[in-house]
Amino acid sequence: MKPALFGKTLSELTDLAIELGLPNFTGKQIANWLYQQQITSISEMSNLSKNARSLLEESFEFGLHTPVKVQVSSDGTKKYLFKTHLENFIETAMIPDKERRTVCVSSQVGCKMGCLFCMTGKQGFQGQLSAGDIVNQIRNIDEFGEVTNIVYMGMGEPFDNLDEVLKSIEILTSEWGYAMSPRRITVSSIGITPGLVRFLNECEAHVAISLHTPFHEERQSIMPVQIAYPLQEVIDVIKEWDFRGQRRISFEYIVFHGLNDTARHVRELSRMLSGIPCRINLIRFHPVPGTPLKATDEDTLQWFKDELNKKGVLTTIRASRGQDIYAACGLLSTKTIGQ
Ligand code: SF4
Repeated sequence: MKPALFGKTLSELTDLAIELGLPNFTGKQIANWLYQQQITSISEMSNLSKNARSLLEESFEFGLHTPVKVQVSSDGTKKYLFKTHLENFIETAMIPDKERRTVCVSSQVGCKMGCLFCMTGKQGFQGQLSAGDIVNQIRNIDEFGEVTNIVYMGMGEPFDNLDEVLKSIEILTSEWGYAMSPRRITVSSIGITPGLVRFLNECEAHVAISLHTPFHEERQSIMPVQIAYPLQEVIDVIKEWDFRGQRRISFEYIVFHGLNDTARHVRELSRMLSGIPCRINLIRFHPVPGTPLKATDEDTLQWFKDELNKKGVLTTIRASRGQDIYAACGLLSTKTIGQ
């Protein structure tokens, strides 16, 4: 299979134009065709010479992948299944909410991180997505053109594939690419500290950290990452950054019955996050097969939210979407596809 043009940055396209003996402005022309026009083949790049087009066609494919399956939830959420450049499968969710169209993209095929509450974690790791695979999840959905927000909260841990994730954000936000504001993009991580530092330095998008409990042993019991990168280190990094401007930091918190929904957790969360201008998003747990964890009840969920707000920690409950088609948080998996 030939490598794809789609997913290359302007500097990569300029380099490849020079390698092929083409004028270096050809890189900019190709970027324009890839990201600002609605074409799907190299032969349609009509302002390139015939020679340039055939040189490109000899070595590259355009690189778009249309969805192989689309499911629609009773609440309007859609789940798209895409084939990747590695010939395996990933899922993408599109969540409509009034005028908003939020796309939840995957960054890896499966995941290495093994969080106890997550279907993707149970699938294991099958490979890294390319920047093209990531951007394709936006470019090739029915709602492309109406997308208002992008969240990297699908399959995989974005900071474990950071080069390609950063490249995808460059394509989405550059003026030669899709020219989206980085303030419409949120990348969610379980907190891989070196990746977080690099991400904060190299890009302007928002960050969401999957916190789930402020206590070391408890977090270690549900998130193995806690052993290598303890939450306190992640918080220390965040405290060094100024989040009082437009860039936002938020924390994801799946609420489990009897594990992380007590007054003790409220106290420790408010202590740990004091001084950070942030929000906590509480998430209802959708039970996954083979885990002992249970969802907390609605009364406790409301109480937990109210207590955190009383302590001055801005806290909201995220609406569950797409549960009937397994598109809700933690339910994306392509384990059984292609077997
Ligand atoms: S929650 Fe995120 S990091 Fe943890 S296993 Fe699932 S996809 Fe991986």
